Amino acid sequence: MTFLLLSLDFSPSEINFLDLKISKDGNGDLHTSIFRKPTDRNTILRADSFHPPWLTNNIPFGQFQRLKRICDSEEDYEKNALDMTQRFKARGYQYKTIFRAYNKAKCLPREQLLAPKQKEQQNSDQVYFVTQYSDHSNAIKQIVKSNWDILKSDSVLREALPDSPTISFRRAPTLKDKLVKSHLPPVSQKTWLSTLKGNHRCGHCNHCSNMINANYFTDVTSGHTFDINTFINCNTSYVVYRLECPCGRFYIGRTKRKLKARLAEHKHAIRTGNPQYPMAVHYKDVSHGSCDSLKISGIEHIEDSIRGGDRLKRLLQRESFWIYTLKATYYPGLNGELDFSPFLVFHPLLCHWQVMLFRSCDLLPAHTEQLSVIIYLTVN
Ligand SMILES: [Zn+2]
Ligand SMILES: [Zn+2]
Repeated sequence: MTFLLLSLDFSPSEINFLDLKISKDGNGDLHTSIFRKPTDRNTILRADSFHPPWLTNNIPFGQFQRLKRICDSEEDYEKNALDMTQRFKARGYQYKTIFRAYNKAKCLPREQLLAPKQKEQQNSDQVYFVTQYSDHSNAIKQIVKSNWDILKSDSVLREALPDSPTISFRRAPTLKDKLVKSHLPPVSQKTWLSTLKGNHRCGHCNHCSNMINANYFTDVTSGHTFDINTFINCNTSYVVYRLECPCGRFYIGRTKRKLKARLAEHKHAIRTGNPQYPMAVHYKDVSHGSCDSLKISGIEHIEDSIRGGDRLKRLLQRESFWIYTLKATYYPGLNGELDFSPFLVFHPLLCHWQVMLFRSCDLLPAHTEQLSVIIYLTVN
């Protein structure tokens, strides 16, 4: 049996609220000091934690300023500053870093720290380069800054770009992120069907004969073979698919509807010579004839995430990933162009678009290619 312990502390002269202890003296004057719960642990970010150095170096100054704001007497501030120094030392901070921060905060008048701060105006013309913090972050920063002139030398881009971009870093995944799962996997009743992978015919539709019955596909450009790790048949929705004609040209597409519904549209387009469909245009150009020769394989099924999220966006991102990976915009691919827009996220506070470079470069193999994303962003 689990018990929930509720406790009530009360006093006519003292009250604790968050990190604040408010007390009343004999004259009825109020005083403030720092409050820590008896169960409080030293959770200051470790000095050797993998963060940008400026961030860890600024933590002591921020904490000493907080003490100065809260402690209303010099004596109380000094007592708590000594305790704070011990806490920082226990977390691996160098004495000179702590001492410099202590001195800097000591010189600030308390009235100035308590005065409301004026919010700085955000510059809406600023271009942000956001990427994950890593060992290479400084090198990336230098590459972007030293090549910025290339972008500025373009007559169109020059108008849209600032003198230099603001480079900011997202936190890298921690061991906790890697090892701890906040969602337990659903308990599923496994059948022989759940172990099936790859493409399968449903067995009772008009399009089964176009389906390639296999659990892998081969990229004609690189010769690599890719496993299809999910079960896909004519009735599967949210699929990235690969169409192939008899001469080996291919097209990468996606659908959120049933795969057979999208295939029916491609076949209809071939029959009617619809110029909106690249495969239909190719069939007409080389006189492939009947669309019976058209082959389709689903290459990835986007499953509904346990965390929710935008499934359609993930489908669009995976389509772009496969177009890029299989070089589908080059011969023998038939795709028109690579679309980066599914990777853009609108920043509601700053009112600008950011590139969501997940895992830094899942889509882009070299950091220098991030510049092309900036160009894309700015032009579009
Ligand atoms: Zn079928
Ligand atoms: Zn062909």
